[in-house]
Amino acid sequence: MKVLKCRDLGNNCNFIVTGNNADNIKNDILNHLRKDHTDSFFNMSEEDKADTYHRIDVLLSRGCGCGAL
Ligand SMILES: [Zn+2]
Repeated sequence: MKVLKCRDLGNNCNFIVTGNNADNIKNDILNHLRKDHTDSFFNMSEEDKADTYHRIDVLLSRGCGCGAL
């Protein structure tokens, strides 16, 4: 079971995605970012977006979701 918190991506938000499939979790969190953090998401530079995607991958590959980096 994997856990990804929106807070881990630097947002002051309690949204959490859980699941076993990293691709599904990634989809869910990206949908959430587009829907609930629309302004910050679309104002992000390509560099920041790449950084966010990378951070999602790192967080999911850890699999524990405890947020301790
Ligand atoms: Zn959020």
